[in-house]
Amino acid sequence: MDWQAITARIEAAVTPHIGTGKVADYIPALARIDPTKFGMAIVLGDGTMVTLGDSHEPFSIQSISKVFTLSLALKHYGENVWDRVGREPSGSAFNSIVQLENEKGIPRNPLINAGAIVVTDMLVARSGAQAFEAELLGRFHRLSGDDSIAVDEEVAESESATGSRNRALAHFMAAFGNMANPVEQSLGAYFRQCAVRMSCRQLARAALFLAFDGCDPINREQLVTRENCRRINAVMMSCGHYDNSGDFAYRIGLPGKSGVGGGILCIAPGHGAIAVWSPGLNASGTSMVGAIALEELVEATGWSVFV
Ligand code: GLU
Repeated sequence: MDWQAITARIEAAVTPHIGTGKVADYIPALARIDPTKFGMAIVLGDGTMVTLGDSHEPFSIQSISKVFTLSLALKHYGENVWDRVGREPSGSAFNSIVQLENEKGIPRNPLINAGAIVVTDMLVARSGAQAFEAELLGRFHRLSGDDSIAVDEEVAESESATGSRNRALAHFMAAFGNMANPVEQSLGAYFRQCAVRMSCRQLARAALFLAFDGCDPINREQLVTRENCRRINAVMMSCGHYDNSGDFAYRIGLPGKSGVGGGILCIAPGHGAIAVWSPGLNASGTSMVGAIALEELVEATGWSVFV
């Protein structure tokens, strides 16, 4: 693969679009991010890392954290995860409550807010909020080789201060008996997981196991079973971008997860993991420039799972 030519091609494709889209503004810490930032990291199975732009700069991973909490829940609870959360695309916004009523408090999938709150609730019920956070961060530290990865306390506090909608989701699910802990306890853990800061390099490295049957190809740690790895990728493909998931599959054809911090994590099974960051979002909360960069990457590499 001629990575020099590929990165030049991606750069040429994104340059005219840098700064487009709308930066998340529900909390000041996200609203003040420079909209012209762009970073990308592609990590291959042998550890080779191809980078562009601001790939070193940490950003708020937000909903990308949901992929990692799902992997922890599947590891600890196996198939029982699906008793409390579905695996169907929602076709709705990230924080939508409408389907919860018809579906008796069972969220449609683990990558919308309601589903991710239930997943975090399961992990908090198992070990307590602090141990859950330590397990999540410990995984990031081990895989990325960087112990400085942490929760941004300002973002975590603001998430909580502006979290009425997530509180509504959690209480609504509690009314149906689908929360195991006091609602505030699980919400607190959820707000904190969204507030973790990581760079594209760290994020892509931490997700590499999802491209290689659940086993990190560098340190050989089996983080989830091969079956669960396949299933996480399937859920990312069908649900990773809320009501934009179909369009993302159409344009990019890789399992992915967006975050309102402007990051997108993508898995190219058998090839590698990709993280891209650019803060301007489309109406569904997917990074505009990030999606363009990924579109160009799959064109150049043939990595789309649909070839
Ligand atoms: N912290 C955001 C929320 O829970 C995350 C949404 C996202 O990244 O898509 O509302």
